[in-house]
This record gives sequence, C-alpha cells and structure tokens, in this order.
Amino acid sequence: MELRKDPVTQSWMLVGDEAPVVSTGDSGAACEWCTGGRLESRRPILVSPGGVRVYPHPRPTFQIEGSPSHAGEGLYDRMRTVGAHEVVLESAAHERQLSVASDHEVSDVLNVFAARIVDLKKDQRFRYVTVFKNSGRLGGEEFSHAHSQITATPFIPRRMVYVLKSARAHFQAKERCVFCDIVQEEESRGVRVVETTPNYIALCPFAPRVPYELWILPRYHAASYEEDLGSRAGASLELAGVVRRSLARVKHITDDCHMVLHTTPNTSTQRGVTVQWTTIADDYHWHIEVLPIVEKRTRAYSIKEVYYCPVSPEKAAEELRRSS
Ligand SMILES: [Zn+2]
Ligand SMILES: [Zn+2]
Ligand SMILES: [Zn+2]
Repeated sequence: MELRKDPVTQSWMLVGDEAPVVSTGDSGAACEWCTGGRLESRRPILVSPGGVRVYPHPRPTFQIEGSPSHAGEGLYDRMRTVGAHEVVLESAAHERQLSVASDHEVSDVLNVFAARIVDLKKDQRFRYVTVFKNSGRLGGEEFSHAHSQITATPFIPRRMVYVLKSARAHFQAKERCVFCDIVQEEESRGVRVVETTPNYIALCPFAPRVPYELWILPRYHAASYEEDLGSRAGASLELAGVVRRSLARVKHITDDCHMVLHTTPNTSTQRGVTVQWTTIADDYHWHIEVLPIVEKRTRAYSIKEVYYCPVSPEKAAEELRRSS
C-alpha cells in the first residue's frame, strides 16, 4: 500500500493491490486482548496508573519504520504509509465501555490520549495525530474489547486542513476564534446545548452532518487538547464526566457511533509546513465530535458531500438533555 494525493481534492488516499484488512469484528470468538488472549503477551507502549494500556495495532494501517519518502511523478505526489497506529485498551475489563465507566476511569483514558499525542508529536515525520473510537457494528468497531485507536500520519487529513483554513479565515476577518464564537452563541441561545459544566459544553451543532451529532468543547479558548489538559489540574476529571454522560446519552439513541478528538496538528514538523499554521494558537480550538449512526443507509452517503440530517439539532439537544 502507498499514499497517493488526489491533485484535485488534495486528499491523501491509501492505494494498493493488497487486499485491505477488513475487520469482521471478534464478537463470539475469544477476545485477543483479554488475559490469555494471543495479544496479551505483547509489550505495551504505555500503561497508565489506572491500568489503561496502549499497544501497537496488530494489523496497522501505517508502519512506524522508515521515512515517508515523498516522491513526485509529474503532477502526482506519493508517499510510503509511514505512521503510527495504536490501540488504547480503556480497561482490563472487556465490557467496560466509557459510557459505563467511572469518571476516574474515563479521566485516565483522556490523560492517556494526551500523553500519546505529546509523544507522537515529538516525531518530526508525523503531521497529525488522530484519536478516535468506533463503536458498534455500523460504526466499524474493530475489537469487542473496550478500546480506542490512535493514528499518526505524515499528512494532515483533508477535512482537518479545511477546518484549519476556515478557522484561520474567520480569525483573520473577525480577530476571534470561530469555536469561541460558537460557544458564546450557543450559550446565549441554549436550544442546542446538551450540558454545561464550569469549563466544558456539550452541544448539537447548528448544521449537523448526522442526526444527534454532538460536540464537546472547552468554554474558554484552548487550541491544543494535550497542552490544555496537561496544564490544568482536575481538567480531565471534569471533562471525563461530560464525555461519559454524552456517550451514555447517545447510547439511548444508538449503539453505533464514532467519536473523534480534534486537536492542533504537529506544528514542529520540518519542511516549511509550519509557516501556514502560525496563528493556530489563536484561531483553532480543540473539541471532541460524537457522530452517532442512526440509519443503515442515510442520504448523506447517496448525495456525497451534501449532508442530509433528518433530525434538527434543536430537537436532538432536547432529547439528549433528557436522557443520561
Ligand atoms: Zn477483551
Ligand atoms: Zn476558541
Ligand atoms: Zn472537528
């Protein structure tokens, strides 16, 4: 497999003739992560005080060895699939999903995310670190054991580049962070707010991509998740409550969902790429997105790039507020 860049959309694609590893899930079979499972003897990358463990992914999409070795081919760009792909075992207990764990357990997982992002960003080859959690069959859950995944890639994913550029444009025009503006607007209106705590807000975005889409953001300005969490004592415990309750609320609607953490790209990488993100500390604002999957086949997939959301965020917020 190799990475190829679409010159029109600027998207990096995984392309190759190898059969892709399509996970069929491990439900029913013995869990490969539980004690006695065949992966249990692997050496963890990190073990947290609370017992959260991080392992290299057994079937990684990205390989840790080597350099991306950018190569041009006339108009086209290609790169080797260099990167990191890790599995975060959220608990030693197989079924201990974040929505049912204690705030301390969730907080431990959130701190592990931060620690891994900090560590992976030290690697100059990586421009972006993505933390995500796929739940349920339709959500593409890869292991039935409670887990999240982390990838570090030698490129910034296209949607992220788009968001970074939009956020910068908003800042240049208004000298304000677009996310801070959203938080302020939503707090003053209230209809799309699901929950607020002293430092965080959970809300349904004004123009959602999917029904019951939910965002969690700090109510104050903070660009980088890992720096923010690392600099404020008790932050992860408060955030843990919001994350746990948000996932529990969504669980009333569906078992299938994606959760993704959006933080700043790696601004310490070489080759001049830092130049374009010089104002990122002011114009970007970390957040967590929860994207529930409520329909097997939504029109969002048939009309590509034009999202169709049959539940308004106002109604979704009302429903999510009631359930926790
Ligand atoms: Zn297990
Ligand atoms: Zn902000
Ligand atoms: Zn985002």
